Amino acid sequence: MADCLFCKIIAGDIPSNKVYEDETILAFRDIAPQAPTHILVIPKVHIPSVDGVTAENSGVVAHIFEVIPQIARAEGLANGYRVVSNCGPDAGQTVPHLHFHILGGKQLALEMA
Ligand code: 5GP
Ligand code: ZN
Repeated sequence: MADCLFCKIIAGDIPSNKVYEDETILAFRDIAPQAPTHILVIPKVHIPSVDGVTAENSGVVAHIFEVIPQIARAEGLANGYRVVSNCGPDAGQTVPHLHFHILGGKQLALEMA
């Protein structure tokens, strides 16, 4: 997607602080961290949000969830972490390319809404 911020990060047109990369996914540090560790994990294929996950593309989502524990271990998040995906305007999604936030390194607030 030519106009997508995260597609530009994948392409290397916008720099990012990468923590993990393979053929199908990329993880990098959030530019405005909400916790001591705040990493975004994204598929390299452009999926707009959780709402765009289908039987055809869900394999990359499963792969993301296999890699998240590896990233968490590498980041030293042995005491726990949160995985969040904001989907659509009511959830406050600001970048329309599927991404999972990994948040940790402190006791996180419990509010869900
Ligand atoms: P959302 O609000 O859509 O759930 O999450 C988007 C996230 O992307 C935000 O946490 C925001 O700080 C992060 N973000 C926005 N632009 C950039 C950028 O250019 N680089 C990085 N590393 N993160 C970004
Ligand atoms: Zn994209």
